[in-house]
Amino acid sequence: MNVPTPPVTVPQADPGASYRALKGPIDAAVARVLESGWYILGRECAAFEEAFARWQGAARAIGVANGTDALALILRGLEIGPGAAVATVSHTAVATVAAIEMVGATPVLIDIDPATYTMDPAELEAVLCAPPAGLPPIRAVIPVHLYGQPAAIDAIIAIADRHGASVIEDCAQCHGATVGNRKAGTLGRAAAFSLYPTKNLGALGDGGVITTDDAALADRIAALRQYGWKERYISDLAGVNSRLDEVQAAILTVKLAHLDAANARRQEIAARYDAALAGTGLFPPARRPGTTHVFHQYVIRCADRAGVQAQFRARGIGTNVHYPMPVHAQPAYRGRVALGPAACRETERAAAEVLSLPMFPELTDAQVDHICAAIGALG
Ligand SMILES: *Cc1c(COP(=O)(O)O)cnc(C)c1O
Repeated sequence: MNVPTPPVTVPQADPGASYRALKGPIDAAVARVLESGWYILGRECAAFEEAFARWQGAARAIGVANGTDALALILRGLEIGPGAAVATVSHTAVATVAAIEMVGATPVLIDIDPATYTMDPAELEAVLCAPPAGLPPIRAVIPVHLYGQPAAIDAIIAIADRHGASVIEDCAQCHGATVGNRKAGTLGRAAAFSLYPTKNLGALGDGGVITTDDAALADRIAALRQYGWKERYISDLAGVNSRLDEVQAAILTVKLAHLDAANARRQEIAARYDAALAGTGLFPPARRPGTTHVFHQYVIRCADRAGVQAQFRARGIGTNVHYPMPVHAQPAYRGRVALGPAACRETERAAAEVLSLPMFPELTDAQVDHICAAIGALG
């Protein structure tokens, strides 16, 4: 007998819920911009940049069109392009690697530490000491603070410094995560944040923001995002168009005021899942000591992933996989991207086993109870 699968009543992510939670102030902010008659790089973008820099504890913030552009603009700002290599990981959103190639630089992909899914500093050191044959000099390192957890950033910065490489933090998934008493994203040369709707801080469209304490770099990036202009219609640098529009900036300022509470709710949900996993034979995600995890995703590992997904699905619970195929194995990159000596073996194992449970701040207590019951029944 075929048992019909119930509809998904608890989605894995729900960006619409983040709008509905703040509908009144968001609608007012959008109306204000529409009435203002000024839609690109105006006072809303400046206000968001100032608020985000203050919240982040960075000297400067520069709003841009998306997170991929944020990474590419930092590389351009540092004059890293053709003739340079950039080390990052293969267990990431493809955007990290795409940004490196957008500026004409050559990616080299380092394996991950399997407990935290972030860049293995020991392999980074090995690659900087003995780069793959034919690779241009490695001028930058992009650790990704994946799933909301900081990478081993102090070790990575110490290693990169010894080899004269700049560290650019990919903060697309870690808005609000901390390392000691500092925010992730304030430790390297500059940080790139995506503001895609499902991120911890999400626009209702595309958006991105760059932070840095380096005023000269910030000025260069601010010019590069708009045709290289310092003065209107006069390009000092060969730039691009990657602006954050006023509607998104106004929405983001509303949402930023609620980000700390939203992250606290994610952590509360994560603690419930941790408790529900006890005795199931599956394990909660590891936490790096001395850091806070802001749970962009709550990721477990299972040998029988399809079976576990089906058990959730049978109870109407959505899950997702971040990411099912390492970047170096994807058709666009396969066979042509340099890897470190570990050949991304842990990355490949993780890609086969990781599973993301529902995680967004607007999950209700009743939904969390339902998910926890489903976790407890796994087996
Ligand atoms: C989302 C994401 C990006 C890219 O951001 P977009 O805004 O989609 O361009 C880059 N890196 C990581 C790790 C991401 O999760």
